[in-house]
Amino acid sequence: MIGHSMLKTNNDRVQLKEIFTSIEGEGPYFGTKTLFVRMSGCHLHCYWCDTTDALAMNSGNSFSVDEAKDLIIKELQPNTYKINFTGGEPLIQHEAVAKLANFMKQKKDIRTYIESSCFDSIRFAKVIPYIDICKIEFKMSDSQVVDHKNYNDLLLNEIRCLKMAIMQDKATYIKIVVTGSSNVHEFRNLTEKIFEYAEPGNLVGFVIQPCYGDNQPGLEKLLSFYDCVYPIYDEVRIVPQLHKLIGVR
Ligand code: SF4
Repeated sequence: MIGHSMLKTNNDRVQLKEIFTSIEGEGPYFGTKTLFVRMSGCHLHCYWCDTTDALAMNSGNSFSVDEAKDLIIKELQPNTYKINFTGGEPLIQHEAVAKLANFMKQKKDIRTYIESSCFDSIRFAKVIPYIDICKIEFKMSDSQVVDHKNYNDLLLNEIRCLKMAIMQDKATYIKIVVTGSSNVHEFRNLTEKIFEYAEPGNLVGFVIQPCYGDNQPGLEKLLSFYDCVYPIYDEVRIVPQLHKLIGVR
């Protein structure tokens, strides 16, 4: 596990950056009406992070877990397809996520979804029983998410989370963000490693997401990444972030 003081949190309280309804902008569930529960705090450092205002542990507001449950119920609109626990990094406050997801499943029988970097498989194991849909995000080394020394440890945790999600029969998909600097050879090796642990039939998707902004990859590079996956998994998709295109949060 990657050590950091931010990882010690108060179990009775939860720090929430925001709760809002919008349109899912990523992955195979894009376009669905979704309630986003954005948890505060992330100790990682992806240079293309688009939620930098949620990275500080003291961003947003502090609530008791019961207050947060009430807030989520109040914000939940009719016809919502799923609740996303997102961030920041939701595994920073994994105990609160487990309590809130469990509560929402009991109370409303609604799909729960976690968007995580999967940096800690022990924390992930505590949350996964209450989650229906798992985005397992694998970070390329050029994301600068962690330093070189900790990168292999991050990959190991991501693989363990993938195995756990599959074994527990969750709707599991892979997401990899790529940039103009991402290395195709590294991407191919990562893809092959993923499919050492996942059968194509275990997945509901494999999304290659081009980063947004200055270092966006061009078409030729995107197709090179696609070509690494397609021979193994022909349901691979290149999907940009829909919410950026239509200008919603
Ligand atoms: S893991 Fe997610 S929230 Fe954390 S820095 Fe990376 S993109 Fe941002």
